Amino acid sequence: MDIQGKVALVTGASSGIGEGVARKLAAAGVKVGLAARRIDTLNKIVDEITAAGGQATAIEMDVTDTAAVEAGVQSLVATYGSLDILLNNSGLMPLSDIDSLKTDEWRRMIDVNIQGVLNVTAAVLPTMIAQKNGHIFFTSSIAGRKVFKGLSVYCATKHAVSAFAEGLRMEIAPKHNIRVTSLQPGAVATELYDHITDKDYRQQMDDLAGSMVFLQPEDIAETLLFALKAPDHVDIADMFIMPTQQG
Ligand code: NDP
Repeated sequence: MDIQGKVALVTGASSGIGEGVARKLAAAGVKVGLAARRIDTLNKIVDEITAAGGQATAIEMDVTDTAAVEAGVQSLVATYGSLDILLNNSGLMPLSDIDSLKTDEWRRMIDVNIQGVLNVTAAVLPTMIAQKNGHIFFTSSIAGRKVFKGLSVYCATKHAVSAFAEGLRMEIAPKHNIRVTSLQPGAVATELYDHITDKDYRQQMDDLAGSMVFLQPEDIAETLLFALKAPDHVDIADMFIMPTQQG
């Protein structure tokens, strides 16, 4: 499929996977709305994309704030005239044991990783349904396929993302010609691990990073592009992307 001139919204585009995908899409001729809370960082990335000849706009958006999500989506559609691609990617992963009872972190993960994803999907769907065309990607995770100790709540949120993505595909792909793809990466070198407050788990992640070559955000971006460029009648529903060295 020709993606030149299509319009994309990428949430969590201020770093990591979202930033990598936004840059790759822009380089492929897609007009990109980069959404996240750190607007200064987004503006800097947009300037770099624009200087390289791409088209992009920064959207200050907390995905847990439905009014901000709605306004951000409306402004993107007003700027570029359509909305063809969504990467529902904002997320966080503060690991800890359940008996540490870091309930604030649990709540935050549920708010961003699940409710945030639902908020953005709801804001984008009417435009895609009216267009009778679109492609919605989710950044689920290997943690959306199996459970790891210390990641219980995170795994619960990513299982929810995988389940929602599959349910959405079953409902809206045949009815509205909107493709859905669930990306399920293993370890990717990003800022995700910086937010772990539990010292032992932080150390564990540093050790893991020292023991293998992690995926890079560009690897996920290439995978996404592969699914996006597939012929219109092909919906690659799941993509499980692992570092070769991760068991
Ligand atoms: P990063 O920490 O680099 O990126 C997370 C992004 O989410 C940032 O852009 C951040 O932007 C954004 N974000 C956080 N909270 C909010 C919020 N309330 N509203 C809007 N945006 C928010 O990590 P990754 O790139 O790794 O994470 C991206 C996704 O990939 C996550 O869903 C993560 O669970 C998933 N993933 C990551 C893996 C990994 O190993 N790194 C593996 C599998 C999946 P800002 O702070 O500016 O709002």
